[in-house]
Amino acid sequence: MMTNDKIYFVANWKMFGLLNSVDRINKVINLSKKRTFKNIKIVYCPPITILSTFANKIKNKNIKLGAQNIYHIENFGSYTGNVNAKMIKDIGATYVILGHSESRKDGDNDNIINKKIQIALGEKIKVIFCIGENLIERKKKRTSVVLKKQIFNALKGIKNIKNIIFAYEPVWSIGTGKILKPKDLYHDIKNIKTIIRKKYKSNKIKILYGGSVNPKNIKDFKKVTNLSGFLIGGASQDQNKFIDIINKTFN
Ligand code: PEP
Repeated sequence: MMTNDKIYFVANWKMFGLLNSVDRINKVINLSKKRTFKNIKIVYCPPITILSTFANKIKNKNIKLGAQNIYHIENFGSYTGNVNAKMIKDIGATYVILGHSESRKDGDNDNIINKKIQIALGEKIKVIFCIGENLIERKKKRTSVVLKKQIFNALKGIKNIKNIIFAYEPVWSIGTGKILKPKDLYHDIKNIKTIIRKKYKSNKIKILYGGSVNPKNIKDFKKVTNLSGFLIGGASQDQNKFIDIINKTFN
């Protein structure tokens, strides 16, 4: 399916998981030792409290670590309750999710997301940059306008997108079970690539899809040949489901 490059499976655990939850990736670690794994890139994004435990668990394994957000200030300082890019890097995270709709709901706007992207890239952390329209915007046929604004505003001043992986996550699809038809998703991804190419001359734009991906609907998503993989929330917390999704993507 899809491209010749590695297919991404990013696990967003959101605000779930305690210290002992780290054992819920044992089977995924076993999978990562298989020869067939060479086509697969797994990035686990657990909550910040267990990032360090995850880092130890996946040390020398074929699995990468990401944080779910960072603060929009680069340096250390008096910002109670926050964590900066240097801190997540120090622990071993090489990716960060930015612009997730749940973080946008908490106050992250395009301007703040722009700062965060610049800071993360400055620390050589790869960015999983989420974009997506809500249901009203979709119904009003404003999807393209909304995505364009999110992309251009958040990428202001950014010259190179080689360390940015885009994640198209229609807000109305996250955690709801509602999904697009493969041909509509293909069309949307194509449109996003066209938008990005207006600003960047890259042939290697990576776009993931996120929103209610599960072992049942993956057979539809794998038909979408212009995707580079998936950002998976709910289903990624159950390793059997997560592995099922990965296997079905290739078989
Ligand atoms: C997400 O949190 O990015 C996500 C896609 O969640 P879910 O898979 O649960 O819809």
